[in-house]
Amino acid sequence: MSYVNEVIDRVIRENPNEPEFHQAVKEVLLSLEPVVAEHEEQFRRDALLERLVNPERQVKFRVPWIDDKGQVRVNTGYRVQFNSAIGPYKGGLRLHPSVNLGIIKFLGFEQIFKNSLTGLPIGGGKGGSDFDPKGKSDREIMAFCQSFMTELSKHIGADTDVPAGDIGTGAREIGYMFGQYKRLCNQFTGVLTGKGLPFGGSLARTEATGYGLLYITQEMLRCHGIDIAGKTVCVSGAGNVAIYAIEKAQQLGAKVVTCSDSTGWIYDPDGIDVALLKEIKEVKRARLTEYLAGRPDAQYHEGKGVWSVPCDIALPCATQNELHLADAKQLVANGVVAVSEGANMPTTEDATAYLQAQGILFLPAKAANAGGVATSALEMSQNSERLHWTFEEVDAMLKGIMVNLYHNVDDAAKKYGFDGNYVVGANIAGFEKVMEAMMAQGIV
Ligand code: NDP
Repeated sequence: MSYVNEVIDRVIRENPNEPEFHQAVKEVLLSLEPVVAEHEEQFRRDALLERLVNPERQVKFRVPWIDDKGQVRVNTGYRVQFNSAIGPYKGGLRLHPSVNLGIIKFLGFEQIFKNSLTGLPIGGGKGGSDFDPKGKSDREIMAFCQSFMTELSKHIGADTDVPAGDIGTGAREIGYMFGQYKRLCNQFTGVLTGKGLPFGGSLARTEATGYGLLYITQEMLRCHGIDIAGKTVCVSGAGNVAIYAIEKAQQLGAKVVTCSDSTGWIYDPDGIDVALLKEIKEVKRARLTEYLAGRPDAQYHEGKGVWSVPCDIALPCATQNELHLADAKQLVANGVVAVSEGANMPTTEDATAYLQAQGILFLPAKAANAGGVATSALEMSQNSERLHWTFEEVDAMLKGIMVNLYHNVDDAAKKYGFDGNYVVGANIAGFEKVMEAMMAQGIV
């Protein structure tokens, strides 16, 4: 059995009931085989892959808080500090009832390579809780965030671990957590990113993941002689990533005709009204059904269905494993040319393989959505300098990072004989720097 397969088997054996983590480890390690083959003896001796798949530290903690009726509620909090070879741990906090240790480990593992790909000095981590922010009052959200941070504050720091937002954690939650950290530690430092602008947030961070997704997709298409202007785009999700992906796609001249949330989806043949979408999701925090009131010609459908709509470019921006093999077949039958992942691991393994086999340009999440964490790292730089950069400065840096990232991924794929396979390219390009740093730092 190959070294890579031995390590995959061990991960499955030692981490039962964590299918998303197994999925992520398999995808990364299998595509690293050509690099591992070059260094197999040394990697085996140093147990490099075993160390790579084991988090440096993981904490799991109780989060008690009091709801508006005076009832004490208890959630579970997590922070997985996966790898600090190239910088302080960095990665978001997910607040969603589906959160468990396996989900956080899959996200933290992916984050190692994504962060490395940005070219910035940030290690990989992820955290969150099974708390469901939906339907909670502002006071309940604050009570949860303060309790969560009371424990988390013992494990993070501006030079140690810098969490950020993710599903369910937006500017409001980051604000409450930052306030509590400051109160507990008596320090005003850049310990979280995605902060509000008056207290150390970066301009363009809100937009960064969605904008970055479009910058890298545009570059990939350009290198294949395709102009994004005039193309039809299907987006899933209606959260932070989806909204700003739609906005930038429209600025680049494409027409986005769908979006979705966890209950249903919208088809708007005239193009999604992004101002209306922001009002519904960012201001009112309401369901997508409200969209029809402002756009009577649009259609609302319950359940899933975004991928049945014909498009040139598909951008899954909601959550993991939301684009299945049947969806991939439908997209290909409808003439899709590119799929870029805005969410983390939204495409299932068999759907990814199918799209690649059909010659569809497929950009995996760790490259495609790296603009969010890259801009978080720019927020850290501004906090360290105690300066603010303009929107245009940050946006220009984001664009430069995403364009470079595409070429690094493309070059790595070509170097190992996998031309056009951006899954392999992203994993190898992300791994090489982490590997070098780990080897140089000895057995730690
Ligand atoms: P948000 O919470 O802002 O939005 C998530 C969207 O996806 C919402 O529309 C939500 O619907 C929908 N959704 C969430 N879970 C499910 C589910 N289980 N089934 C169906 N729909 C679901 O999150 P973000 O936009 O920040 O994150 C989206 C994805 O992008 C995640 O995979 C995240 O890890 C990834 N990501 C985010 C980054 C960021 O900067 N925010 C950076 C890099 C990656 P509803 O409104 O009904 O809950």
